[in-house]
Amino acid sequence: MPSESGLRAALVEIVAQEVRSARVLDVMRAMPRHAFVPEHPLGDAYADHPLPIGHGATISQPTVVGMMSEALELDGTQRILEVGTGSGYQAAVLSRLAGHVDTIEVVPELAERAMRALREVGASNVDVHVGDGWAGLPALAPFDRIVVTAAPDHLPEALVDQLAEGGLLVVPVGPQTSDQRLEKHKKRDGRLVREDLGAVRFVPMVHADDVG
Ligand code: SAH
Repeated sequence: MPSESGLRAALVEIVAQEVRSARVLDVMRAMPRHAFVPEHPLGDAYADHPLPIGHGATISQPTVVGMMSEALELDGTQRILEVGTGSGYQAAVLSRLAGHVDTIEVVPELAERAMRALREVGASNVDVHVGDGWAGLPALAPFDRIVVTAAPDHLPEALVDQLAEGGLLVVPVGPQTSDQRLEKHKKRDGRLVREDLGAVRFVPMVHADDVG
């Protein structure tokens, strides 16, 4: 049975086929993904797949986590807003690449479990908020970076408003799971400049009213 660090090193070799940033790969080599999916066997925690975490949510595929982290162009100083905390793993990776992460989750039970896992890995610069990502976190805006890890069918206006000038917004947009594009937007002179990062598959971004 390979060690945890051996499993992580093997996983990062796969992620490195899509992700160039040495900083992102170093963080993924060090971050214990299994702490965020304690209900899954160790081998599954270090396979390059999404995994179910309950409430219809999934922990994202590691390669996708790496791609999103790289797309955010982080240098250790930025304030990030993440929408869709889920397991907390993406937030944990970002916490080691940025200055501070605020992450918002609409399902209270998921926020609770993410908080526990984030505490366990010592991610002290992450705050988990229960709320609706469509509204963002106006009281804490503006953010240098905003990353959305559930797919809205159109760009949420509140998030565009809460992005700082010069900031980046990375978001999978699409009407349904089978037809989503990962978009990267830069705010320049108050307007968004869009880049297409390719096809992706995320769980839909829901409206808080629909969460039972
Ligand atoms: N970043 C996560 C992946 C999460 S899956 C990880 O690393 O594990 C997407 C998450 O978005 C789910 O937990 C889902 O509950 C949440 N979500 C969906 N719609 C939302 C909304 N409107 N506001 C906040 N979170 C939302």
